[in-house]
Amino acid sequence: MRQPLIAGNWKMNLGLKEAVSLISELKKVKPNKAEMLICPPFVDLPAASEMVQGTHIQLGAQNMYPEEKGAFTGEISPAMLKELHCRYVICGHSERRHIMGESDEFIHRKVVSALVHGLTPILCTGETAEQRNEGRTEEIIREELETALFNLPSEQAETIVIAYEPIWAIGTGAAATAVDAQAVAHFIRGELTRLYGETTAEKIRILYGGSVKAANIEDFMAQKDIDGGLIGGASLKAAEFKEIYEKV
Ligand code: PEP
Repeated sequence: MRQPLIAGNWKMNLGLKEAVSLISELKKVKPNKAEMLICPPFVDLPAASEMVQGTHIQLGAQNMYPEEKGAFTGEISPAMLKELHCRYVICGHSERRHIMGESDEFIHRKVVSALVHGLTPILCTGETAEQRNEGRTEEIIREELETALFNLPSEQAETIVIAYEPIWAIGTGAAATAVDAQAVAHFIRGELTRLYGETTAEKIRILYGGSVKAANIEDFMAQKDIDGGLIGGASLKAAEFKEIYEKV
């Protein structure tokens, strides 16, 4: 049985004061069987870490550099995230792939490094509108998965989380239909089965991300291969994120 995961990716939003205020509201939410995760900007993490200690809220980072320490100006290491009690780290979000130019190989290094340091990677995959129109969705996702997971043993693979995030649905208000999202999530589980066998593939959580809100979360959660959501815009509003979590 895979535990549902509702993950908020705050992106470059909410400074310290706003972060504290949102977390205070989320702490009032009654815990249920789903995991609630927030991924604030780095500068909010120390305060967030203190605030969520002993609560139902898990902490994650939006990114990391895949080295222990050293001359990497402006970067944050997995060990630093661990020190702040982060459990998760988002790897390969499409904004990092497309705006910062991160390659599949670099994302692979992050996934491996995160696991070595005891962090759970949330590996993002997804196609652009153009790739979808060309019928290349599966090809793109297969390539992203194969490279990011290259040589990963199944004991490690079974702990990771995969997020299917069609790029055309992120921040646009035009979510994928639940049926389309399920079709790709099913394809992803099939690829994981091919790489690791059914037992491992059945343990891996697959999230859908792309304009998820309280009004559509139930449609996604009703799908066999979708185990939660990676939520951007709607995770910035306490009432909306609470409603999403409660509907899971
Ligand atoms: C995201 O950034 O991962 C995302 C899915 O954003 P939004 O929910 O705003 O589409």
